[in-house]
Amino acid sequence: MKLGMAGLGRMGVPMAKNLINAGFDIQVWNRNSKRSVSFATEMHCEIAQTPKALASACDIVITMLADDAASQEVYLGRSGLLEGKKATVFIEMSTVSPDWINRLQRQSSRAAIIDAPVSGATQAAQEGKLMIMVGGSKEITQPLLPIFDALGEKTIILGKKSAGATMKLAINSVIHSLNQAAAESLNLAQAAGVDLSLAYEALESSAACAPMLRYRKPLYLDEQANQIMFTVGLAAKDVDLATRLGKILNVQMPQAELNLGILNQAKQNGYAQRDMASVISYLKKEHK
Ligand code: NAP
Repeated sequence: MKLGMAGLGRMGVPMAKNLINAGFDIQVWNRNSKRSVSFATEMHCEIAQTPKALASACDIVITMLADDAASQEVYLGRSGLLEGKKATVFIEMSTVSPDWINRLQRQSSRAAIIDAPVSGATQAAQEGKLMIMVGGSKEITQPLLPIFDALGEKTIILGKKSAGATMKLAINSVIHSLNQAAAESLNLAQAAGVDLSLAYEALESSAACAPMLRYRKPLYLDEQANQIMFTVGLAAKDVDLATRLGKILNVQMPQAELNLGILNQAKQNGYAQRDMASVISYLKKEHK
């Protein structure tokens, strides 16, 4: 079986490496071909010239792309994945809207579309410790489990189509609330003269600590001195999708709305490509 990977960003690269290390025969495609060339040179795998070529060479194709717009372009654009002649399953692992997953399924007459977004950051992707949320039945998902096992340590099959995409947005509402709350709490402690590293030690040892506050610690202590894990731009995209879904389903999400407002302001003020921990310095700057 040949597996395709479209999207070699911060998450796509470690995920594709884990699949190769687990013994899968992989072909890759990325919009910026420099990334696919450097990946293929390091990992000794084939490159497809277009998404269509990838889906014409592979049985199953995984996509790990930025957002709905990127996914739409790669699946439906010129020489897109759905024009490919071979692939019978596409696994969309990007964080995208349930609405897009449902539309994509309707557009795909031949191949199955499985939504399987992930929770866990770049480190979890490198270590093969992602949590994967799959929309779709057990029957459809069962043959794909060896792929998910190479990428993550837990796969939850949610049964209903697009439920993976929905659940990912629900979880990220909590993640981005935590990010906002951690930024406020650290700024509060520092403003009162508490040393930042001691403040973090207390936060980390308290009942309020969640795993993300541990693995993102270096970024919260000094965001600009550390490698970006997750950008403000992508965070704003996640919360925007979550609040839109809330409106469609008539669910009140006042906290998510507030988080979205701040992420959008930060984005408009030059923080889009910085890690989301930069909300700390954005808030400080705003109140000077
Ligand atoms: P990233 O590093 O910004 O990579 C984005 C990927 O999407 C790149 O391969 C980029 O290609 C591609 N892309 C963007 N726009 C495109 C377009 N119009 N057409 C074709 N390709 C396009 O993002 P990431 O951090 O890997 O995140 C990927 C997905 O995983 C996102 O949905 C994100 O929300 C989700 N996620 C991220 C994390 C995390 O910690 N980073 C954790 C869980 C889930 P180029 O190289 O050509 O720009």
